[in-house]
Amino acid sequence: MGKIKINLVSGSIEEPQAEKGNVVVGIDLGTTNSLVAWVNPGTGAPEVLVDEWGGLVPSVVGLLEGGDAVVGQKATGGLVTAPERTIFSVKRLLGRSYQDVSKVQELIGYRIIDDNTEQLVRILVDGRYYTPIELSAIILKELKDKAERILHANITGAVITVPAYFNDSQRMATRDAAKIAGLPVLRIINEPTAASLAYGIGFQEEVEGGFAAKKVLVYDLGGGTFDVSVLTIEDGVFEVLSTHGDTVLGGDDLDRAIVAHWTNQSEALQQLQSQISAAGMQSIRLAAEFAKKWVCTHRQEIFKKQLYWNPVARIFEVKEAEVTDSGLLAIAELGLSYEDLVTVASPIIEKTMKSVKSALKDAELSVADIDDVVLVGGSTRFPEIGRMLKEEFGFKHVNQELNPDEVVALGAAVEAEVLAGNRQDVLLLDVTPLSLGIETAGGLMDVLVPRNTKIPFKVAREYTTSVDGQVNMRIAVFQGERELVAENRKLAEFILRNIPAMPAGFPKIQVAFLLDANGMLKVKAKELRSGVEQDIEIKPQYGLTDAQVEQMLMDGFTHAKEDVEMRMVQEAINEGRQMVYTAERFVEKNGAMLNEEEIEGTKQRIENLRCLLDESSSSKDAILDAVTQLNDYTKPFAERLMDVAIAAALKGKQI
Ligand code: ADP
Ligand code: MG
Repeated sequence: MGKIKINLVSGSIEEPQAEKGNVVVGIDLGTTNSLVAWVNPGTGAPEVLVDEWGGLVPSVVGLLEGGDAVVGQKATGGLVTAPERTIFSVKRLLGRSYQDVSKVQELIGYRIIDDNTEQLVRILVDGRYYTPIELSAIILKELKDKAERILHANITGAVITVPAYFNDSQRMATRDAAKIAGLPVLRIINEPTAASLAYGIGFQEEVEGGFAAKKVLVYDLGGGTFDVSVLTIEDGVFEVLSTHGDTVLGGDDLDRAIVAHWTNQSEALQQLQSQISAAGMQSIRLAAEFAKKWVCTHRQEIFKKQLYWNPVARIFEVKEAEVTDSGLLAIAELGLSYEDLVTVASPIIEKTMKSVKSALKDAELSVADIDDVVLVGGSTRFPEIGRMLKEEFGFKHVNQELNPDEVVALGAAVEAEVLAGNRQDVLLLDVTPLSLGIETAGGLMDVLVPRNTKIPFKVAREYTTSVDGQVNMRIAVFQGERELVAENRKLAEFILRNIPAMPAGFPKIQVAFLLDANGMLKVKAKELRSGVEQDIEIKPQYGLTDAQVEQMLMDGFTHAKEDVEMRMVQEAINEGRQMVYTAERFVEKNGAMLNEEEIEGTKQRIENLRCLLDESSSSKDAILDAVTQLNDYTKPFAERLMDVAIAAALKGKQI
């Protein structure tokens, strides 16, 4: 018998609790849904953590008027009632600049700031600027809290998954989101890798003469994205050979295709089309999604429901029972059979199958070379997908026994368990114990190689100058987990000289880090336009004891949240300085094109921004606001200038 605890203040009996243990988890931070899983020590098997809301947490954040946020099912209602403050699909924006994602604005109801630069995107709600990193952090925090509540334990580490096609900046943004959420990241791994791990693919199977190398194809069809990846796994090392896909193709398209199919069939529905409100559209769409899921799970039967038009509310309602209320007008009896679904879905599924072919081709493999296919994403519950892969392609083995919307989180939990040292049957690779990076403006640490990166590696990132005519650039290499280089360990420094004088932002300076199998780090800087280069060699681990590495890691964890917040302020300051510099040059060069009032207006806004930059207590929002104001004000001038240049060019004149 355990003991019963009584809270002496409230007089209530507290649930019997094991002492608060430490637990590691796996997290699938999805575009549509997110999940958290752990390996149950009782059974040794991975499990998704489920509470009264279920296991899936919709990746939706509702930003309430008071500044609070709600996440998941609690926020989804806002998609219809308050689209401007209900953020969904934020994963599409993570680590991207406005230039990368300007097309996304049409798909969403909230506002992305268009500063037309390569800066990371921001979202504006109620005069507050949110970065996709902060919004993802809110989702991660919800998942962490959920896990801690269910397990009565502290979450001391997490493996977080990202799509195989995520670039360096998107992966860094995911790490930063975890830091803000107070989640120590054990490792960021690829979603297809996690899905394979969930099926136990990749754990060593001894064969004659060594370990078998496996080739796996992972087909992932989610709510709004599709990707297929081909992996090889050898001695516990997962390598992505190819990925293909479509970032705007998924289950949502099946829903839309069903709505189109119904509209085609019902004249009454067509006539009402112009009167349907957004909420009415949403309810038809939800009916379509429901029908889709229904026929997928009851594939022999036919889904039938009544759709009613409520002329007062101007919405559609779907009712199962006959409704006699005269206020409602029955419009159509919706029907969907499995065969109907196969027909309407066929162009969408065809597209995905083309990607499968391309991915195989890029990996230079044939169907027969693939040992395992793994199905991922809720939409692969559509049996047609598994059927085509098996019967039409002829893949040997299609894994679909696990819940396809859970496999990524389950695999991440397995990986977390391995990294926590609880499994002995997996090979742990040589990795960098601490992050490596260089110093950038404002004394910030820009990480090129996150800790836990497999050795050997080669990575490169491009930088540029911030001042016109800059001919030298100092490259200072640091190691550690803190956001300010001052708190990290300096490894080396050198100067790239003789960069030809160019306007600010023009030079392309590539900094590459190469770490060989012996742990020697080579850092190389090269200005790509001119070919000027310089390099240096260092031994990063030299003179560091294990205890020191551990201390540096701990410091990183304990200061993670404040560090990231401080960095965001510093980045706003850097952006502000750059904006002041650019705007001043602009007025200097093109003053003749502007009238007095415009010059005055510009100067005033520059001054306003400069004051904020000089003051040490300025908030990130205040600075960004001043940047936006200056940018919005001067943008039409820049456009006008472009028009003049084009007009002149058309006349054949040099300007
Ligand atoms: P993401 O990876 O984008 O976060 P999920 O893997 O959770 O998304 O997939 C969500 C999609 O799966 C939705 O479009 C949903 O309609 C679809 N889906 C869920 N269950 C079923 C089912 N039983 N049959 C068909 N589609 C389903
Ligand atoms: Mg997914």
